[in-house]
Amino acid sequence: MTDPRLDHELERSLEARARRGLRRETKLDGVVPGVDFGSNDYLGLSRDGAIASALTAAAAHGVGGRSARLLAGGSILHEESERAFAQWLGSEAALLFPSGYQANIGLVGALAGRGDVILSDRDNHASLIDGARLSRARVIIHDHCDLGDLERALKSAAGARRKLVLTEGVFSMRGDLAPLAEIDRLCRRYDAWLVVDEAHAAGLLGPGGAGAWAAAGIEGEHRLCARLVTCGKSLGVAGAFVAGSDVLRRHLIHAARSFLFTTAPPPPIAGALLAAVERCQAADDLRAAALGNARLLASSLGLPEPAAAIVPFPVGDSSEAVRLASTLRDAGFYAPAVRPPTVPVESAGLRLVCRADQTSAQVEQLSALLREARSSAVPAPARAPAQAEVMCVAGTDTDVGKTVVSALLMRAAQRLGHARYWKPIQTGDDDDTATVQALSGAPADSLLSNHAWFPLPASPHEAAAAVGQRVDLGALERDYKRHRAAAADLLVVEFAGGLHVPIDLDPAVLQLDWLTRMDAEVVLVARSGLGTLNHTLLSVESLRARGLSVRALFLVGPPHASNFRTLQALTGVARCYEVPTFKDLSPAALDDWLDRYDLADLLHV
Ligand code: PMP
Repeated sequence: MTDPRLDHELERSLEARARRGLRRETKLDGVVPGVDFGSNDYLGLSRDGAIASALTAAAAHGVGGRSARLLAGGSILHEESERAFAQWLGSEAALLFPSGYQANIGLVGALAGRGDVILSDRDNHASLIDGARLSRARVIIHDHCDLGDLERALKSAAGARRKLVLTEGVFSMRGDLAPLAEIDRLCRRYDAWLVVDEAHAAGLLGPGGAGAWAAAGIEGEHRLCARLVTCGKSLGVAGAFVAGSDVLRRHLIHAARSFLFTTAPPPPIAGALLAAVERCQAADDLRAAALGNARLLASSLGLPEPAAAIVPFPVGDSSEAVRLASTLRDAGFYAPAVRPPTVPVESAGLRLVCRADQTSAQVEQLSALLREARSSAVPAPARAPAQAEVMCVAGTDTDVGKTVVSALLMRAAQRLGHARYWKPIQTGDDDDTATVQALSGAPADSLLSNHAWFPLPASPHEAAAAVGQRVDLGALERDYKRHRAAAADLLVVEFAGGLHVPIDLDPAVLQLDWLTRMDAEVVLVARSGLGTLNHTLLSVESLRARGLSVRALFLVGPPHASNFRTLQALTGVARCYEVPTFKDLSPAALDDWLDRYDLADLLHV
């Protein structure tokens, strides 16, 4: 029988998600229940007869992709569809990928690497975020469509080998348009290159539906180096094209790993795409219908005019958004809730997608239902506030590497959801919060101020006494409750010194006492070398004696021949990690480490 522990752990992490209103399911029958205001089939081409016939006919080239394009995969249809596609967008060349996700990670990784800087909009799609992360370039995230913030980021990237700005044309969750002309101007001023993801603009905006860049009508010299169009949306099929120069295409077939190491899309997909590009280009009537529906829906809900066909309907709370979606479903409309991590915490809502095949009567009916829901929304009953998961980073001693481990957790957590860091009590000259910010690249609003900061580098009780103060445990706990209830998926709390270090003397309160009341997961950080066995085993024993389990153990410092294995065996802690002394303590060094140790399961946000 399989050891059930892993399933138990996974079940706990699923329950934690469910408590935050984040339970998700695949639709069992794969059919959209009700009038579809949820899928991205903007023009209804997924059911187009001519495209379906092209798909069937192309099966003559084989049903499967057989192998990677550079080996025996693909067909003449792949190349033909790429040429048709480039022509549509007015670019020199295009390259077909099996999906938009793969196209973005391949493209970004092929254009940026170590020594480069990627500047990425905070609301960019996960595929751009993951591409940036995998590339090993330094990533600077700027506020959504904030040109001032982008300019600041570009200035701070001076000296980079290459600067790459990533944006969506129409943003997939907010439905708004990127200021492409202004972004391009900044790229020219600061010698950067621009990538535009046209997933939600292609087929809808610009002449012949060629997208947001085409719609912006930018003439003359510009810095656009690549556009990505996903083909599972307006084009109704699957896959994605990257369009750019002929050199870019040749570079991608050598350097985009998600192209090189994957099986070619099946020939029927390439055949269907060839027909879809033609159909989409000529579909001015369908574009007008989808865009008209979106304008009608937004105006009747009193929402801002949408840039394309996505109308976000804000709700705020995830569970409320799910309830509203289910009310609509009962009334025959399908508009799913979008929740973190797809959107920022507290920004849950409905993402209403307008399509060419909805009638204006259906749009009006949906709008009436939403207006009704809005007006009858009773103030939510006082519920227990949503609580962040808390991960306490505690040490076996002072100076063991807790801050570096906190930075690793924060850097990893940012990819998965919204995390905050809090060092409740700082003593001495070091500013651990600043260090975590610099190393993790976490945005300033995710770093919470210290509850107290005492200049003497000593235990909290002694450092407080040195300035005639005491740590007020009541106030500390109130601060903790407030931070825990504030919007975040995860709160990383870094302790000062070891577990038995006092916060106060009379009555005696140890850090461990406070930890026992926190309802938190514990991450224990210890030295790697001589002396660590005793400290670590005693700390684990102390934690367990209080009913606390150790979620992970980090040994920091030069690798030791046997301590890691000994502690793994004697503590039985399932997740043990070795963190070396980084020669160059930098975000890039942390990324290298994170490439080897995926902390996603540890964080379970
Ligand atoms: N980019 C954006 C902006 C998207 O919305 C999506 C899909 N939701 C993708 C890329 C990924 O495309 P695909 O579904 O083809 O993997």
